[in-house]
Amino acid sequence: MDTNQWMEQAESHILHTYNRYPIVLDHGEGMYLYDTEGKKYLDFAAGIAVQALGYGNQEYADALKGQIDKLLHTSNLYYNQPIIDAAEKLCAASGMDRVFFTNSGTEAIEGAIKAAKKYAYIKDGTTDHEIIAMEHSFHGRSLGALAVTGNAHYREPFEPLPGIVRFAQYNDLESVKRLVNEKTCAILLETVQGEGGIYPATEEFLKGIKEICEAQDILLILDEIQCGMGRTGYLFAWQKYGVKPDIMACAKALGCGVPVGAFVMGQKAAEASLKPGDHGTTYGGNPFVGAAVSKVLDIFAREGIVEHVREIAGCLTGQLERIKEDFPCVKDRRGLGLMQGLELDASVPVGTVSAKALEEGLILITAGNNVLRFVPPLILGPEHVDEMAGKLRKALGAS
Ligand SMILES: *Cc1c(COP(=O)(O)O)cnc(C)c1O
Repeated sequence: MDTNQWMEQAESHILHTYNRYPIVLDHGEGMYLYDTEGKKYLDFAAGIAVQALGYGNQEYADALKGQIDKLLHTSNLYYNQPIIDAAEKLCAASGMDRVFFTNSGTEAIEGAIKAAKKYAYIKDGTTDHEIIAMEHSFHGRSLGALAVTGNAHYREPFEPLPGIVRFAQYNDLESVKRLVNEKTCAILLETVQGEGGIYPATEEFLKGIKEICEAQDILLILDEIQCGMGRTGYLFAWQKYGVKPDIMACAKALGCGVPVGAFVMGQKAAEASLKPGDHGTTYGGNPFVGAAVSKVLDIFAREGIVEHVREIAGCLTGQLERIKEDFPCVKDRRGLGLMQGLELDASVPVGTVSAKALEEGLILITAGNNVLRFVPPLILGPEHVDEMAGKLRKALGAS
């Protein structure tokens, strides 16, 4: 079948919740993806910040194949070795204490919210606790995760949403302080906002929130689903700020392609929140995803992926800054490490640029209304940055 036939078939059977780009992806190798017609694309989206190790990593594939032959699933009624290894490595890498594995980022947020509510409930025996979240945040699509997502367009059709959530302005500490009261059980934010337009937290903001949380025994939940796993040049972005959360949500690159997320807790929150019977999952943390997470963390450590991100990030920043200078429609460049954005003015729709980029053989996604988002596999080299810049210049020129 050709591309159009595949697209037609997809649109007649798959629920239309996405306006997809008109290509059918077939396979990948390193930093490149190939469609069913054999066209090659340089990938600067990584399946939305998932494919940190790029495509076709043999060691990773072998680990998964070995686990498929051995045991895929057990349920959480029994122990399994791969997930025990994965949990131990995730705790060691984060300096945190307890992991609950989920199947997605959304579920990691759900679990984190439940843990925070339970923590407050155990403390004062009351319900109706409040969560402070941020405007322009994104935490997922289930009802609980949607309730803390600061985007009215996503939320509105599905209201009323569960829980009492108050929205503060990101990077505005006073706006957070105004919302804190004796019912506040958690403050939830992305360490670097992703979907909202690539906004890193300021150090003052994150440290200020941590102080509020400590002073009032409120749990700090950091969503590291997109900015975690090495993307900012730190395994977890909060490590750059020296602000450790009580609960961290992970997913996306955690399994580098298998559906796995996690919420990870410090001892204080773990000890006094979710107990047997409070939370569960049938698939979550099965041996298959355990083998993936375990192998990903091994490869990250052995190959120095985080150090590599720090080295190569300057190269990306430099190219994007030069593009900003050369194209007046580019208003701003921001981000950390290999999580960067270019904000465009209204004269050039970002969707047009990403569509043109695709024609040039560059996969690029957007964030917010007017931001081009750069979240490539973390294995990229300087030659890929240069190739991307060349293609992006052509796409911007044609938009
Ligand atoms: C993608 C994302 C989520 C949701 O993760 P899913 O795996 O799509 O459920 C939550 N928070 C952030 C910051 C994300 O980028």
